[in-house]
Amino acid sequence: MAQSFSSPRLLMNRLRVLMAEGSDGEDRLSRIVQLVAGTMVADVCSIYLRTPERKLRLAATEGLDPDAVNKTLLDLDEGLVGQIAATAAPLAIQDAPRHPAFSYRPETGEDPYHAFLGVPILRGGLVLGVLTVQNRSERAYDEQEIETLQTIAMVIAEVVTALFQAAINSPNIKPEDNRLRRPINIKGRVLCEGLAMGPVLLHDPVVPAAKFFAADPEREEERLEVALKELQESIDHMIARESFQLGGDPREILETFRMLASDASWSDRLMDGIRSGLSAEASVDKARAEHRARLQKARDPYLKERFYDLEDLDNRLLRILSGQTGPRQNAEDAILVARRLGPADLLDYASAGLAAIVLEEASTHSHAAIVARAIGIPTLGGVKRVISFVENGTRAIVDAGDGVLHLRPDETLLQAYDTRAAMLDTRAALYRELRDLPAVTKDGVDVDLYLNVGLDLDLAHFDETGAKGIGLFRTEFQFLVSDQVPTITQQMGLYKRALDATDGKEVIFRTIDFGADKLMSGQRAREENPALGWRSIRLALDRRGLFRRQLRALVRAAEGRPLSVMFPMVTTVEEFRMAKDILLKEIDWSEARGYPRPESLSVGAMLEVPALAFDLERLAEHADFISIGTNDLLQFFHAADRNLPTVSERYDFLRRPVLKFLKQVFEDCERFGLKVSVCGELAGHPLDAMVLIVLGCRKLSVSAGNIGPLKNMVRSLPLQEVKDQFDLLIQSDKAPLRKEVLGLSWDLDVQIVQN
Ligand code: PEP
Ligand code: MG
Repeated sequence: MAQSFSSPRLLMNRLRVLMAEGSDGEDRLSRIVQLVAGTMVADVCSIYLRTPERKLRLAATEGLDPDAVNKTLLDLDEGLVGQIAATAAPLAIQDAPRHPAFSYRPETGEDPYHAFLGVPILRGGLVLGVLTVQNRSERAYDEQEIETLQTIAMVIAEVVTALFQAAINSPNIKPEDNRLRRPINIKGRVLCEGLAMGPVLLHDPVVPAAKFFAADPEREEERLEVALKELQESIDHMIARESFQLGGDPREILETFRMLASDASWSDRLMDGIRSGLSAEASVDKARAEHRARLQKARDPYLKERFYDLEDLDNRLLRILSGQTGPRQNAEDAILVARRLGPADLLDYASAGLAAIVLEEASTHSHAAIVARAIGIPTLGGVKRVISFVENGTRAIVDAGDGVLHLRPDETLLQAYDTRAAMLDTRAALYRELRDLPAVTKDGVDVDLYLNVGLDLDLAHFDETGAKGIGLFRTEFQFLVSDQVPTITQQMGLYKRALDATDGKEVIFRTIDFGADKLMSGQRAREENPALGWRSIRLALDRRGLFRRQLRALVRAAEGRPLSVMFPMVTTVEEFRMAKDILLKEIDWSEARGYPRPESLSVGAMLEVPALAFDLERLAEHADFISIGTNDLLQFFHAADRNLPTVSERYDFLRRPVLKFLKQVFEDCERFGLKVSVCGELAGHPLDAMVLIVLGCRKLSVSAGNIGPLKNMVRSLPLQEVKDQFDLLIQSDKAPLRKEVLGLSWDLDVQIVQN
């Protein structure tokens, strides 16, 4: 028997009235199932909600045995309902009992029902539950019915979230929800150390429940049309200004983005949402929830990337609809929570006065992490599903020391953290006192501590750190934060400010290091293995115009002062020579046009590709120094993506093979007269830095916040004694080495204290 739902708009209107009436959440759920069953001519309508014990609980039903409510519990992958939860996708079946996944629950009395339609209840990409309708007859549900049920599921997601929130505040909560009332702690990876407390600010736009239903659907359609047009124009504009070709063919990537934005099926779906009674925002939000859910299930990297694109478009459209031109409002003293954040996004927030950053994705060596360290904002990464536990304004403590995020902390915890914050202040005062003291070991060996920077913002901290100079100036950051390629004058301005701020101390400018995860705004990685791809010096040598303009800016900024330049990710001596030749020609060219030659020139290579380590003798004939970029070097050495915590954190630096390799590098540098430093992130960790010093390193370049703890460590280091014991340890079979080395540092009273 063919039946059809009545108008979705009618259903939405009724739902709107129901939502506007004051009633508690549980009651609302029962009334929603009654309404849906009645309006959709369904014999049964049920809501299953996910419990903290990872089960699906029958929370409300119209048509099944009411006694089964709160009793029927399904496993997350059990039956048809479980299948919907597991796949986060709708399921429509004509004859459910014959389906292989069907699981019979006698207590519900569902024997006579054949037709089944279920959709996931999604929020923030998380499956909160499942909404189903059933009919006695065998019938096929059509697309519009599936659509409508998905829309209702979205409204239910709001009710459920409100229910959880109420549970947190209510004294009459059920035992299973009780844990939601307590503060939640979620573990994360420390990307930048520190401690902060404050309200959460979600990076992705949030649609408030009040804006859910369309009061005037025609008006909403118009609003959506205008917003879509604005979105498409902004992408056209992005493509037009993309004169700078980077990362293969970015135009093609942007074209794909434009194609998705103009895809009629996307806008049609959004319009359908409005026609079914949703506001423009809610319709986009619904599409976003589906994209996220599918993203989380997608295995194929290409598909994943497309879903990221779609989610990005949804977010852009939401911002346009809410009249938000920049996402940086209310950021002061807030804890920014995001699924993921590119370095450019993060830099956009840099001046907004954030207290801390919490990311669901991102690993220790990602560029987002490096930027966070450069800005000095306490940051946690890999905080799983944090977005589903917070709202804008949720109180939180970011403990980027122990790697824990505390949500809704209680008074005792707040007090404990106040004490901890006071202790950190004392420590900061100690580091300030060390500022003008030399970094010299107890037995008189000097260790030079340099600063890693990339922006004006970092330069402001130079004096406070007491650094000897700048050991790594990441010039690409200026490009990453700009909408357009910085002009020679803009580049020159920044380099000159760096040279001025350091007042004659050495500044090592690393030429643009694009590629991998460092892409200009609007560009996307297209290669399968971008870390091994067309990046850094490879890209610069192929994009001569871009490279030469940067070198010209450097020569001009030097204004006759000494100039140090290094090239990133050099693989062969020939590559280095080519790059150096271009630099030398640029100096001649500038001189011919009246610009003074640098008083002296020092040119080096970053050692990031292991192959170069086996040709240091030849390199030393042409280069003045190398700087070891352990972030990239270790990812290549261990064949473990630095951005993928599951693999990058699997291989500790303190293991014999890598230490043996580096020891050889330090010895070769000494033998061939090549100066050497380490500028990767681990140089900033006191214990790892101690080992680097033991291996022969005398120059470390680190983020501003690491200089104090490092100097403290160096000044307490009896180098020869530690070295003797370390040599014995390496020869022994003891493992894990990190634990042993830490023990050794304790025995010899070396101050290993992180920030
Ligand atoms: C490195 O790879 O260690 C390095 C310092 O460069 P970046 O982190 O900018 O790739
Ligand atoms: Mg690198």
